[in-house]
Amino acid sequence: MSRIAYVNGQYVPHLSAAVHIEDRGYQFSDGVYEVIAIHKGKLIDMDGHMVRLSRSLSELEIAWPVGPRSLDMIIRQVIRRNRIRDGIVYMQITRGVAPRNHAFPAHHDSALVVTAKRFPPFDFDAANKGVDVITTPEIRWQRRDIKTVSLLGNCLAKEEAARAGAYEAWFVEGDGMITEGTSSNAWIITTDGQLITRNTSNSILNGITRLSILKIAKEQGVKFVERAFSLEEAKSAKEAFTSSTTSFVKPVIRIDGDPVGDGKVGPLSTKLLAYYGVHMKAQAA
Ligand code: PMP
Repeated sequence: MSRIAYVNGQYVPHLSAAVHIEDRGYQFSDGVYEVIAIHKGKLIDMDGHMVRLSRSLSELEIAWPVGPRSLDMIIRQVIRRNRIRDGIVYMQITRGVAPRNHAFPAHHDSALVVTAKRFPPFDFDAANKGVDVITTPEIRWQRRDIKTVSLLGNCLAKEEAARAGAYEAWFVEGDGMITEGTSSNAWIITTDGQLITRNTSNSILNGITRLSILKIAKEQGVKFVERAFSLEEAKSAKEAFTSSTTSFVKPVIRIDGDPVGDGKVGPLSTKLLAYYGVHMKAQAA
């Protein structure tokens, strides 16, 4: 079955889907996006993703291309037309097409693209596999709270990780503090069992998975604190993991080649991943 994409009002074959060369997303990375997991045909944490999308649009003064209810319908239509049970839906909204000029165009004709991709059924046990992360200097802009398609700094760091044979790169600021991963949020668990992830500010993207994990921690009585933590602290942590819509809770067993704790997937990471699986399954029921 061939894939179908939604592009500015039309459902078209994925292979021939295209946007104009003067789309501001293409020329200036002037756009935002969301990635939502689909489990058993259901959208996971849809409300959270829509709230974040709305915030990203408003921070950049990009108009909604269609109303939120129409967008919801388009997303479900793309999932249906691609017959996705497990996978992701990707949506991107840019400021639209205009003659190249840095300042905003007078029009508010934002452009919308929605695609979906099928994954094998999510296997939460198989996901509980430890990975390596490397660290890299934080070189990105100062509005990382906006989920913009402007991801060059993230791409450079992910490529560095790939070349090092690592799963992810965590960014480290000049003062030694970790911000987040190239496409995930960073977490550590201290030797006394406290869960730590960076507090929200302009420095990180407030991951929807991050929010769900914090909710789970609260429900399960896991001690947690939202604050900045250093690379040094991460290296002497008992456990570490990185979180995102597509990787869930991904245990980190080495940072820059040094083992975290005993270098094995730890019990709290395992427990949080299992609860995250329950959280997803509950929405897919
Ligand atoms: N930080 C960055 C830079 C990301 O790209 C992502 C993934 N979109 C995340 C964090 C995690 O966000 P989420 O849990 O919403 O996927």
